[in-house]
Amino acid sequence: MALIVQKYGGTSVGDVERIKKVAERIKAFRDEGNQLVVVVSARSGVTNELIARAEAVCPNPPERELDQLLSIGEQETIALTAMALHGIGVPAISYTGAQAGIVTDMAHTKARIHSIDAEAMIKDINAGNVIIVAGFQGINSDGDITTLGRGGSDLTAIAIAGAIKADVCQIYTDVDGVYTADPRIVKNARKIEEISYDEMLELASSGSKVMQSRSVEFASKYDVVFEVRSSFNHNPGTIVKQEVASMEKVVVRGVAIDKNQAKIQLLGLADRPGTAAKVFRALATANIVVDMIVQNAGRDGVANLTFTAPANESAKAAKALEPILAELGGKIATHDQFAKLSIVGVGMKTHSGVAATLFTALAECGVNIDLISTSEIKITVAIEQAKADEAARAVHTAFGLDKA
Ligand code: ADP
Ligand code: ASP
Ligand code: MG
Repeated sequence: MALIVQKYGGTSVGDVERIKKVAERIKAFRDEGNQLVVVVSARSGVTNELIARAEAVCPNPPERELDQLLSIGEQETIALTAMALHGIGVPAISYTGAQAGIVTDMAHTKARIHSIDAEAMIKDINAGNVIIVAGFQGINSDGDITTLGRGGSDLTAIAIAGAIKADVCQIYTDVDGVYTADPRIVKNARKIEEISYDEMLELASSGSKVMQSRSVEFASKYDVVFEVRSSFNHNPGTIVKQEVASMEKVVVRGVAIDKNQAKIQLLGLADRPGTAAKVFRALATANIVVDMIVQNAGRDGVANLTFTAPANESAKAAKALEPILAELGGKIATHDQFAKLSIVGVGMKTHSGVAATLFTALAECGVNIDLISTSEIKITVAIEQAKADEAARAVHTAFGLDKA
């Protein structure tokens, strides 16, 4: 008997037929004598639809109200899944995030989990019930509903698995596991059997939306081993766990692209101590996640500072920087049509020539590199959005990742 946490994403619970299929899968695990906590997402498309409706009534909706609205998507699925289980004779109880004891900080739309009080859940599990928890949501200390950022049901599942010390954590989705690149874009991508937390984190934060990056960060911090697999078949998936020595043999584990990027340039800023601190403090206060940062050498007392941020936050970034520009001089230029392409692998720590291979592959398909940043296990380039897919395929081939 094992204590299993499962998470089913939007496509896996996309309509009532899919929800019934998921209920059958849950029943099969329970019939084998396992205890289950199941986290579900909103039906695919529902969260986007809710956001569109919010924006239709208010161009910049208050984030507290947005969270009230977005949380209903998951609430529909928990109730339907619990009902589907009852329909096939399995006792199941649905829980909202608050009922599951998921307490977060105050940051609406991207809240962080502070703690999970799993007492009620454990009591209901021990009484023989399957627990169905709404992903992506929690409650803050004011008693307001918060959401955990897009894709946040992954985080709900991994955090619960950590909190209740589950034996197994399975993330069910619409692909067979984590691939060397998004299989919808790179047809020759291969499924990865095992990947380290660090590599998965870098892929996720570089745009591989198969896992929410914060959920991987959480898994790494609390060492929650998990498997990404398909809810549409019974194939083995990808195990995500701590790095083992053999993983370093692979130089590049995967390629990720993120097409939702803006390049923001601050031109003619006063070149003196404290300038960058002021700029990035203002962005941090506005909760904007900045990625690549480049500053050119100052000249005549002024310097240019360039960074990337999610394209849908570029207007918010510009607004947050208004008072800083008023103080430091200079002007802002935003370009929304950017993409980031990243290659990731723990093997990069011990191999040379990786950057050269990347840049050659990009040059051969006529892609201009705008910005470059590197870490021990990742190289990222900012490139033109329209060429991102083609570039990903070329780079995938160049590193020998294509399936035979
Ligand atoms: P869910 O709704 O189950 O959470 P998501 O849509 O969030 O599913 O994530 C699954 C999708 O992630 C896949 O359909 C695939 O297109 C995309 N994806 C991007 N990069 C990768 C990758 N490296 N491996 C597998 N899937 C990827
Ligand atoms: N429904 C939320 C979203 O679409 C959370 C999730 O699916 O994980 O982002
Ligand atoms: Mg997802």
